[in-house]
Amino acid sequence: MRNQLAQLLVEKGITDTKVLDAIRDIPRHLFMDSSFEGHAYQDKAFPIAANQTISQPYTVAFQTELLQLESDMNVLEIGTGSGYQTAVLLKCRARVFTIERQLELFKKTSLFFKKMGYRPKKTIFGDGYKGLPEDSPFDRIIVTAGAPEVPKALLSQLKIGGRLVIPVGFEEQIMTLYVRTSEKEFRKEEFGSFKFVPLLEDKN
Ligand code: SAH
Repeated sequence: MRNQLAQLLVEKGITDTKVLDAIRDIPRHLFMDSSFEGHAYQDKAFPIAANQTISQPYTVAFQTELLQLESDMNVLEIGTGSGYQTAVLLKCRARVFTIERQLELFKKTSLFFKKMGYRPKKTIFGDGYKGLPEDSPFDRIIVTAGAPEVPKALLSQLKIGGRLVIPVGFEEQIMTLYVRTSEKEFRKEEFGSFKFVPLLEDKN
């Protein structure tokens, strides 16, 4: 079933072999509630705890491909959720720092990582809007929730030459890539529209 899913993603335009290998390898059904397990290899998003969703495999593949990962890069992920995207990043040999703001999901997914032997560098409970200054700058940053605007903190925590992939918008989001070209300059590119749960900012 995973091979078929990877084949479908190829037909939808995904070409990065690291990403496709990760999709073929990772048991997505284990990242989901048992009631949806039987549907895990459909190219669809499903509900997880705390009213959140596990992203559609195509979305995960599209975002990861845009990152253009190389081995041992430091990657900041905002929105751990089920941990599936984290697992894809790890499989692509990234050193992952992942942040989740829902305590229930943070606890559940942290335990699941231990059980499965997935080893992010850090799994953090907190507000990803602020990024992770103490471990910055990052080679890559990926946001897996819909952001009303691009958080300035995330841009400032990107290495020069680094890439930030973030869905920007309210009801629907435009997948947006920022490449830091110098200390002060960014190149921005926009891709198709997607639907994510919102990126929420903790104001206090
Ligand atoms: N990559 C995840 C996507 C989960 S949905 C997966 O495929 O399972 C997006 C996640 O972002 C949710 O778990 C939500 O709680 C989290 N989130 C929203 N705003 C956040 C913020 N400011 N900081 C960290 N996580 C946030």
